[in-house]
Amino acid sequence: MQIPDALWLAGQARSSASGGWLELIDPSTEEVWHRVPAAGTAEVDEAAALADETFRNGVWSAASPYQRATVLFRLAALLREHSEDLARMEARNVGKPIADARDEVLGAAKAFEYYAGGISRFGGETIPVSGGGFDFTLRVPIGVVAAIVPWNFPCPMAAWKCAPALATGNSVILKPASLTPLTALALGPLAEEAGLPAGVLQILAGRGSAIGDYLVQHPLVRKIAFTGETATGARILSLAAADIKRVSLELGGKSPNVIFADADVETAAARAPLAVFGNTGQDCCARSRVIVEASVYDRFLDAFVAATEALVLGEPLDEATQVGPLVSAGQRATSEDYLALARSECGRVVCGGERLRRKGWFLTPAIVDGLPSDSRVAQEEIFGPVACVLPFGTEDEAVALANGVRYGLSGSLWTRDLDRALRLSRRLECGVLSVNTNSSVHLEAPFGGLKQSGMGRDLGMEALRLYTEVRNIYVASA
Ligand code: NAD
Repeated sequence: MQIPDALWLAGQARSSASGGWLELIDPSTEEVWHRVPAAGTAEVDEAAALADETFRNGVWSAASPYQRATVLFRLAALLREHSEDLARMEARNVGKPIADARDEVLGAAKAFEYYAGGISRFGGETIPVSGGGFDFTLRVPIGVVAAIVPWNFPCPMAAWKCAPALATGNSVILKPASLTPLTALALGPLAEEAGLPAGVLQILAGRGSAIGDYLVQHPLVRKIAFTGETATGARILSLAAADIKRVSLELGGKSPNVIFADADVETAAARAPLAVFGNTGQDCCARSRVIVEASVYDRFLDAFVAATEALVLGEPLDEATQVGPLVSAGQRATSEDYLALARSECGRVVCGGERLRRKGWFLTPAIVDGLPSDSRVAQEEIFGPVACVLPFGTEDEAVALANGVRYGLSGSLWTRDLDRALRLSRRLECGVLSVNTNSSVHLEAPFGGLKQSGMGRDLGMEALRLYTEVRNIYVASA
């Protein structure tokens, strides 16, 4: 498969655009290695008109669920067929380890398979209304969906949005992040080969600063499915309010990893590094607030540091690599700024925080302790390889620490006490809680955040609700 170098509009590659060019820099060499056209507002207008037209003419929106499923299953098969090329392109573009990139591309294929399989089992209900007659609901597609995704998991984020949106019959404008447009752009030709009618899916690489507001406010766009920063999500929500667009938001996090003394502390410590430093900490679910019962604090911290120092940092395309570089110079500088702040707030950087003596935006994973829970480093989403460790005495203190942030995305709880696990499952403010593991994401289960981590749920059958409206029909009986 060729590395994409064009936008995707009207079922065709578009090799130049009004927004200039996006130069892609390899995070492990700091060199420009590829470029793609950047959409401007002209391409947004064109994409929206095409998407609206295909939605209205019914070429996809009125196709049967079986017809749509057939196309989406074929698309998944093509993603599998090209998975190695896609994974290598993603690893190079984002700087992520090739093994992770492979899992993510296969995860994207599975998302298309899941929604292709699920769509024929998703529908309305019949309602026994008091006036007699026959009342039923329909689940109908919304129209033109703008799917706006971030740079940290480009391929799965695109699939999590496009698969349920297309399965339910919407037309889609997919906007990948300007740093990482490649796997999203690759979806266009694959979707066409799978039989998706031209104009149902447009893919616009472009800068959020140049086309984000315009896309969100476009009168033909009826629904915005966004994943990204909380501040961007808040802006989108306010812009969308003017004409009551449907909005779902998957936003930032500062997720807790709570370890009680009665847990399997060694396993919790062995798993903690990849729970926060996976994807070089650029993960909305990163368990970056590690909250540990005081009686096992030192034992846990020693094991956590040892396991962190054993992580293999290196070339994204090296099979042994567990942690790659950060995605950009700016992202590394942010992490370094937070480490300087931690030191100035009397925190102790127990390990990490160093650059490698080579090109590339590498930074060794850093663990900080001794910070107050309300310090900026312990409160703000850093989105880099920095973890804070905080001690607690009682269960109530653990809950207060875990909940004491503005976010509520993921979280982990380690305990062997079943009563405690069930009790805290209700008390911990996480949209996605994992007990005795750090795994957050299950394709079949709803995923999303409480508080300022977002609204609406991706994944599972729940996501199909995000892309449909409910209509009620009442038929009088004679
Ligand atoms: P970002 O908000 O800067 O950008 C996300 C996308 O929005 C990009 O495509 C960007 O071009 C676009 N954008 C920027 N300004 C816009 C505007 N005014 N209108 C419309 N679109 C605009 O986020 P990022 O830096 O790419 O990603 C990192 C963030 O994403 C982190 O906060 C992370 O926690 C979050 N994230 C959340 C989840 C989740 O599921 N909750 C998953 C992955 C990442």
